[in-house]
Amino acid sequence: MILCTNCHRPYPETGIPYKCPACGGLFDYDSFPISLDASPSDRHISPLTLGEGNTPLVWSDFTPIPGQRSSVKIAFKCEYQNPTGSFKDRGSATLVEFLRSRGVTEAIEDSSGNAGASFAAYAARAGIKATVYVPESASGPKRRQIEAYGAEIIAVTGPRSNAADAVRRAADKGAVYASHAYLPFNLPGYATIASEIVEQLGGAPGSFICPAGQGGLLLGAARGFAALHAAGVIPHTPKLFGVQALACAPLWALAKYGPAGLGFAAEGPTLAEGVRVRLPLRGDAIVRAVEASGGAFAAVAEEDILPGRDALARQGFYVEATSAIVWNALAQLANQLVEPVVVVLTGSGLKSNQ
Ligand SMILES: [Zn+2]
Repeated sequence: MILCTNCHRPYPETGIPYKCPACGGLFDYDSFPISLDASPSDRHISPLTLGEGNTPLVWSDFTPIPGQRSSVKIAFKCEYQNPTGSFKDRGSATLVEFLRSRGVTEAIEDSSGNAGASFAAYAARAGIKATVYVPESASGPKRRQIEAYGAEIIAVTGPRSNAADAVRRAADKGAVYASHAYLPFNLPGYATIASEIVEQLGGAPGSFICPAGQGGLLLGAARGFAALHAAGVIPHTPKLFGVQALACAPLWALAKYGPAGLGFAAEGPTLAEGVRVRLPLRGDAIVRAVEASGGAFAAVAEEDILPGRDALARQGFYVEATSAIVWNALAQLANQLVEPVVVVLTGSGLKSNQ
């Protein structure tokens, strides 16, 4: 069930509060509702679907430091092939299905781009009128995609957090805030990636690597692997690795320096706009999951992002800069990786400005 992580009251039976009405705390699952059956006919745990998930797992060689270490076999999970071009669709399917189940007809969301486009698509599918607050810096193609789905766009000047502040003010006035960060309903959708990967590999990965902003995919995957382990489907869970842009790397700083690290975690400009989140709401849970797995965080310097994007493209993977930070992270993490290594390519390069 879903409880407030602070006062432990259950999620209300009616309405869509984005945080606990009693104490302002964050809601989360106390036990995790994952479907363990990854067979294609039962892959979607949500009846609302645009065909998300079931993305290809494509093998490739990676040589961390040319000439110094033999290449590592990497399996790329091509999440950019989801219906709107990003992994967010897994979470939007379950989140918007929940909205529909509560009779919601209008909802607002804030996003740097991919989450907004995904939310707009699933809202359109569900007949819900969507309004999406975006930072003015969000790329043109993503904004056009959001508008094409029929959602209204409200552009907010300044950094990503300004859009979040604006949407919270609207929520405080009564709008339904379908937040992919505050609400936990997208996490079971993200967890489906774990059972898919296990099915595609024929077992558990040794390492799981993905970009992390709010960290929803990383946390959802962690819970998915944990549920599969608890059910006896896999003998061990993978080491989890989260990748951030050094310009905005609070999870990396928290894991490396403890709470003091958050004091100097900046929200600097970065090409990896999709992971530009200064205060990830579930940061504590994500850092705990990563540390318990024996994994780690990596932070990628700005000058290393586009070379990673190009290196991936030379292998035929056309992803956006946010996704491409995993390439440099592979070199940083090379000595910690356990094979088989699964790397998530989260978003398409086709709607990128860079
Ligand atoms: Zn509470």
